[in-house]
Amino acid sequence: MTVYNFCAGPAKLPDEVMIKAQAEFRDWNNTGCSVMELSHRSKSYIEVYDQAVAGIKKLLNISDDYSILFMHGGGRGQFSAVPLNLITENKKAHYAVTGSWSKSAVAEAEKFADITAADYVSTDEQGNKFVQDFDKWQVDPQSGFLHYCPNETVDGIEIFDAPKFDVPVVADMSSTILSHQINVNDYGLIYAGAQKNIGPSGVSIVVIKNELLSRSSDSIPSILNYKLTAENGSMFNTPPTYAIYLAKLVFDWLIERGGVEAQEKINIKKAEYLYSAIDKSDFYSNHIAASNRSRMNIPFFLANDELDKQFLSQAEDNGLLALKGHRIVGGMRASIYNALPFEGVKALVEFMQEFERTHA
Ligand code: PLP
Repeated sequence: MTVYNFCAGPAKLPDEVMIKAQAEFRDWNNTGCSVMELSHRSKSYIEVYDQAVAGIKKLLNISDDYSILFMHGGGRGQFSAVPLNLITENKKAHYAVTGSWSKSAVAEAEKFADITAADYVSTDEQGNKFVQDFDKWQVDPQSGFLHYCPNETVDGIEIFDAPKFDVPVVADMSSTILSHQINVNDYGLIYAGAQKNIGPSGVSIVVIKNELLSRSSDSIPSILNYKLTAENGSMFNTPPTYAIYLAKLVFDWLIERGGVEAQEKINIKKAEYLYSAIDKSDFYSNHIAASNRSRMNIPFFLANDELDKQFLSQAEDNGLLALKGHRIVGGMRASIYNALPFEGVKALVEFMQEFERTHA
């Protein structure tokens, strides 16, 4: 039976990456060592690291005006690092709240900064949630930066365009990075925990405009300091070497299949297929307006939630794993990141239709 893993993260990695990693597991590049056994300062490892940096730069078309940092602490580590590094003298920052993760980012940032948090989610006449247009976002020009989360992993709400304001824009792209084309120049800083579209958990990527590096003061914890991390090529301390190696393999895989542009087309096809099956049925529903429907995380509900358990256990019997919705939203959630093939979405839709036929 083919297994399809719909986990929101840590998520499925591409089969080709797993096969390559397995082949190289104990002997990387004739070194006689696994990548995880190499010194992070060795020539062999620096090669891996440099290729990882080159991979993400190529995929996102990142200019030399930006630095790429590999850091510890996951997405939440960046919830602290962003305000600690980027606040200016008045300590002000604006946080757009569009769901659960942007809310958590506010809770952390409030420990270090004077945060204005504004909820920009409304509900339309059909009862569907949508994000208000950027011209409704009231960003004080005195703010050190604007923080937002373009893809709310839990809520299934995605914002596809970049907000443009006179303050640096910071985006938590943990669950959307590399899923569609972006213009990095629209952002002061992009960060992402790796465990969705990049690789395994344990590493996060920060893409930061060089001119913002001067904001990092010496008084913040060294491990979270962007300037120090950049000056040390992400090797101020021992980096998560194996996770970075796997990220490099994922970048190679994505480049080989045509980069983000080609992947975006596949992602649109996958998401449209699933949303259309949900919309056509009276048994399943999704409550996000079309313009903000996430292409990566698709929550849906059964007409009768007493059937949820049965749905999940039968799905699992059919090789369709980790479809349980986040506990604060309930229902189901299919996370269909880059590595989840169209065939997986097709198998899910076929299962959903059969379940509806036999249970509705
Ligand atoms: N931000 C977003 C959008 C996420 O989806 C997640 C985790 O799923 C996080 C932040 C937190 O990441 P971590 O668990 O790596 O701290």
